[in-house]
Amino acid sequence: MKTHQFEALIVGAGGAGLMAALHASRGAKTAVLSKLYPTRSHTGAALGGIGAALGNLEEDRWEWHAFDTVKGGDYLVDQDSAEILAREAIDAVIELEHFGLPFDRTPEGKISQRRFGGHTNNETGKPVRRACHAADRTGHMILQTLYQQCIKNNVSFFDEFHVVDLIMNDGKVCGVIAIEIGNGDLHLFHAKAVVFATGGWGKCWETTSNAHSLTGDGSALTYRVGLPLEDMEFYQFHPTGLYPTGFLITEGVRGEGGVLINGKGQRFMEKYAPRIKDLASRDVVSRAIMMEIREGNGIKGKRYVHLDITPETVNRYLAEAGETRRLDAHYIETKLAETCDQARTYAGVDPVREPMPCQPTAHYAMGGIPTNNDGQGIADARNTVVPGLYAAGECACVSVHGANRLGTNSLVDLVVYGRRAGKHAAQFTQGADWTPLPADAGKAIEAELNRLRTANGSVKPYAIRQKMQQVMMDKVGVFRDSNSLQEALNDVREMKQDFKTKLGIDDRGYKFNTDMLEAWELGCLLDIAEATTLAASKRTESRGAHAREDYPNRDDENWMKHSLVWASQTDQGEMKVDYKPVTVLGKDVYKPKERVY
Ligand SMILES: Cc1cc2nc3c(=O)[nH]c(=O)nc-3n(C[C@H](O)[C@H](O)[C@H](O)COP(=O)(O)OP(=O)(O)OC[C@H]3O[C@@H](n4cnc5c(N)ncnc54)[C@H](O)[C@@H]3O)c2cc1C
Repeated sequence: MKTHQFEALIVGAGGAGLMAALHASRGAKTAVLSKLYPTRSHTGAALGGIGAALGNLEEDRWEWHAFDTVKGGDYLVDQDSAEILAREAIDAVIELEHFGLPFDRTPEGKISQRRFGGHTNNETGKPVRRACHAADRTGHMILQTLYQQCIKNNVSFFDEFHVVDLIMNDGKVCGVIAIEIGNGDLHLFHAKAVVFATGGWGKCWETTSNAHSLTGDGSALTYRVGLPLEDMEFYQFHPTGLYPTGFLITEGVRGEGGVLINGKGQRFMEKYAPRIKDLASRDVVSRAIMMEIREGNGIKGKRYVHLDITPETVNRYLAEAGETRRLDAHYIETKLAETCDQARTYAGVDPVREPMPCQPTAHYAMGGIPTNNDGQGIADARNTVVPGLYAAGECACVSVHGANRLGTNSLVDLVVYGRRAGKHAAQFTQGADWTPLPADAGKAIEAELNRLRTANGSVKPYAIRQKMQQVMMDKVGVFRDSNSLQEALNDVREMKQDFKTKLGIDDRGYKFNTDMLEAWELGCLLDIAEATTLAASKRTESRGAHAREDYPNRDDENWMKHSLVWASQTDQGEMKVDYKPVTVLGKDVYKPKERVY
């Protein structure tokens, strides 16, 4: 096995990984390992914007952003983390601007901002323009800008290196094992600190906005070495996935004035969120769409509704609301260029002239590797730090998103907490000794990869993947109940068994063996699916994205706590589950209230 040594290793080259790498590289010898070429990371697909209370177009304050984050997260958000997020977002966006990010501009030359779901002026309750954007390709611009900065700062990149194991010694992190995808060689990376920034796991579900590569690898790896995953039951369905592919239609469409319409031609969000209507939080809008579909109000009775951004419809509603602003075709083509292109290509619909078909789509993991505010991985409900372990971005759980993430807050999370994790990791490496690698480092994973490469059973990975995605969609989707969750748990466990004993793959080679790597990724998805379903079955309340039909109410008395799930078993043969309290700051404004929209 080839060996390498770097003080700080960053696994993942999305927004979180690159921001961490940039800041780590200022104080430590740093490398980034990525299974994708960096600029192909999913951050590049982020459309709508990055939230920061710059107040460029109207009054806004970071305190309002923090409150919206806590409220949007249905009060499961750690309030100290939300305040850091909202406060440091301002400076982080300006840092991106100074790195050269080409934001859209106001006529005076300031960064342009638009409305987004759940962003409000806390005094009037009205929507506020907080989402900074570069047309509807904000994530693409963030990724390109940060990649250029990393190159400029001499960060070492190992592109198309697929990390398959985390090496620990005596409770401390000391490196990772990666496959060089092009030739199948295994590499051992010795490190003082490892930052996981591997993104989400939308591929657990059948309909998802997520890229093919989003299989939760980093989170599964830390879970497998005996660390917990936090708040896994909270997985966000974005209300507007293009029907039938599930590709994302950005919330920016509704931010610009787009409205949701059911099969009866009604603007149904008026019923579910009378004040803020189509701009209510994602969990609220996703449930509303599912209710309409269940009641037979889908378009032509099918499983989708319409999202209408045609100037005719939008201008009618703007006039009704007493607004002077009007949209025209040119404005829509400019502000929502990617969206128009996608709808035309993938749904055959021209958004300037006709409404787009849409349905809720699996979108974002609120849970993940538990960390503190410096991005350090933690091992238990007492917040014990795991020396050398860091996580940032979607694979991590700080927790700033609580039970439901607010639109634009993921990009903020990447840059604010990616930066914090990178800085802290560099500091840590300066004071820490090298933890020696255990003698058998990499042996177990080498054996597992050989098993996969030569597996000759009757069940193909894609058959298991498809079944898992259907089970998760039907039983661990927008709505859940105790029966569906128990069935899903049994199903997933059966699939895990098949994965271990009946798997068969076709490619026995070493070069670009994606057959084997996708099978390995499926193993990660199955672990994640089990943790998600278990945590969901234990939480007997409805909060944010976790909607239990048998427990429809939020239960603040018993459930203002984060769940932690371990892969290891208790003496009773059950998976270990524990809880830790939500961090509250004792401010009146953050006291749980009923969410009114
Ligand atoms: C279509 C879409 C639109 C979105 N729009 C917005 C938006 O407008 N605003 C917003 O705030 N959020 C948005 N989000 C959410 C946001 O984009 C993501 O949560 C965020 O980009 C995740 O960034 P990340 O850095 O954590 O991971 P990613 O960008 O997903 O990158 C993951 C990285 O990890 C690497 N990796 C993974 N596994 C391994 C492995 N085993 N070995 C080596 N490398 C590995 C990959 O190569 C990749 O580089 C959107 C998401 C989607 C899917």
